[in-house]
Amino acid sequence: MSSRTVSRRALLQGALVAVAFNPVSRSWASTLEAGAVPLPPLDGELLMDTASRTASAEDFGHILHRTPWAVLVPGSVEDIVAMVRFARRQGMKIAAARGLGESHSTFGQSQVPAGIVIDMSTLSTLHEVGDDSAWVDAGVRWHELLQASLPRGKSPPVLTDYIELSVGGTLSAGGIGGQAFRWGLQVDNVLEMDVVTGRGELVRCSRSRERPLFDAVRSGLGQFGIIVRARVRLVEVPPRARTYIALYDDLHRFMEDQRRLIEDGRFDYVEGSVVASNGGRAYQLEVVKYFTPGSEPHDARLLAGLGFQPGTLQVSDGSYFDFANRLAPLVELLKQLGVWGFPHPWLDMFVPARSAESFVQEVLSQTTEADMGQGPILLYPFRASELTAPFLRTPNDRHVFLFSLLRTAIPPTPENVASLVGKNRAIFDRLTAIGGKIYPVDAVPLSPADWRRHFHPAWERFEHAKRRYDPDRVLTPGQGIF
Ligand SMILES: Cc1cc2nc3c(=O)[nH]c(=O)nc-3n(C[C@H](O)[C@H](O)[C@H](O)COP(=O)(O)OP(=O)(O)OC[C@H]3O[C@@H](n4cnc5c(N)ncnc54)[C@H](O)[C@@H]3O)c2cc1C
Repeated sequence: MSSRTVSRRALLQGALVAVAFNPVSRSWASTLEAGAVPLPPLDGELLMDTASRTASAEDFGHILHRTPWAVLVPGSVEDIVAMVRFARRQGMKIAAARGLGESHSTFGQSQVPAGIVIDMSTLSTLHEVGDDSAWVDAGVRWHELLQASLPRGKSPPVLTDYIELSVGGTLSAGGIGGQAFRWGLQVDNVLEMDVVTGRGELVRCSRSRERPLFDAVRSGLGQFGIIVRARVRLVEVPPRARTYIALYDDLHRFMEDQRRLIEDGRFDYVEGSVVASNGGRAYQLEVVKYFTPGSEPHDARLLAGLGFQPGTLQVSDGSYFDFANRLAPLVELLKQLGVWGFPHPWLDMFVPARSAESFVQEVLSQTTEADMGQGPILLYPFRASELTAPFLRTPNDRHVFLFSLLRTAIPPTPENVASLVGKNRAIFDRLTAIGGKIYPVDAVPLSPADWRRHFHPAWERFEHAKRRYDPDRVLTPGQGIF
């Protein structure tokens, strides 16, 4: 018996066994009392015990905690169809989340104060892993998919830095990593999806079938449907990866070199970050070349013309899987130290290349080490020409920089968290003024008016899709868009 089964059983202990919902008192009923509406029959379970509901009020941000009325642990896709229909009829909200307390949102995006959270982690079957694509449940983590595809020498072309995220969760957001300059985001590499819309209809969509739904759901922030399955692209990858890390003291040169590398494509992965160095800051280039043993990369040719500081270059080889899974040891350590459970008021931004240098400099000059709590600052570019999802909003420029302040609140006090969230909002206002966009997975309080500006000029299309696929606005209220 798995530990998952044991813990689920433990959660169920003391659970209320409801058979109906009373629409007048807006509460669950344990008998079919007068006026109560029976719950649909389910293959899985609808959990109403305090432990399950409290777990669903938690996410990686540890900032907002909104407790749902129940948690659906679906036993099938039909359960999701049935509960979305039920929620719609009863005027309840409903949203998908990675798992009980395992959501990687940072500001309650998957929480539901008056309704139902769907724990997608039980829908985690890899239905088919082929040569060019894999057909998987939305609750599958990228890590699991990679483990199944690598024996065939295949990988999703773009992976997030951390691969414990769910396929459904990242396809709802975007899914960016150091391969994005070549392949676009994960949403640009999904081929087909099964989606339960806010009307409670199960629809298969792709570029050639139900295209408006396909386009709405990719980076749709859970507003139009629950993704239940996805066919994601696989590409051939060599088994080894050589990583080059080097420091720059000049931001201008660092960003110029990064832009050159994403244009000439000499590496397979291009990222970068801002790091502490000699009491100040330096800019760290991180680039990777995949290879097959026997045809090792030619280091001098690959590094030719780059302006990093002599003596700072570090080169290391490892398997492709260890490279993709490189954050696992660090995450394990942070968990052991208890820091993983601290609040994370993250801020992820898409900055147009034309103003990126001055904007980054301005933000860094106002951001102290204490503001970061030793969390990383990411800075790397990708090419707008590779983007295909209309609701992934990025600045209008040929090159766009991801600039992320991945803060940990130390001390983890409400005052410190409030102060850091306030700083995020102030930076967001500056970002908007220069034509930047946020990557909306982070901790920035946004009003419906902010969201309209965020989606402009696609707001009307976004609203139209909402009317079409979720007319009663039952889906994913935690984003705060409607
Ligand atoms: C440690 C860490 C590292 C990260 N690294 C990266 C990175 O490198 N690149 C990157 O792009 N992002 C990264 N992220 C952000 C991540 O992509 C988002 O948090 C994303 O939402 C995935 O998280 P999740 O799978 O836990 O989904 P959740 O947090 O559970 O859900 C996120 C949102 O999507 C909705 N949702 C979830 N599943 C579905 C579904 N099946 N159908 C419809 N809507 C759904 C939820 O309701 C919620 O609104 C990182 C986050 C963390 C915490």
